[in-house]
Amino acid sequence: MKAQLLLAIKQQTIRMQKKGFFRQQPRDKRFEWRNKHPQQGAAHSKTVQGKEYIYCPHHRNCWVPKINNEGQIHADSCEARSRS
Ligand SMILES: [Zn+2]
Repeated sequence: MKAQLLLAIKQQTIRMQKKGFFRQQPRDKRFEWRNKHPQQGAAHSKTVQGKEYIYCPHHRNCWVPKINNEGQIHADSCEARSRS
C-alpha cells in the first residue's frame, strides 16, 4: 500500500517535471535589470528591446514601461505614487 502511494507521488513528480514546474523561470532573469536602481546621475529612461522604460522609484520593479498596455503614460497613471 505504502509502496503504491510512493509510486503515485513519484509519477506525479515526473509529470510536474515534464510540465516544467521545477524549471527556473527564465523570465526572472530577463527582467532582473528592472529591479536595479540607476546610478546617481544616470538616465531615468531607457529603451530595452524596442520598448521605452522609465525609472519610477515608487515601484518594486523600479523600471516600468513608459506607456502601459492601455496606452497610459506611466508618470500620469502611476498607482504606486498616488498611494504613497
Ligand atoms: Zn510608478
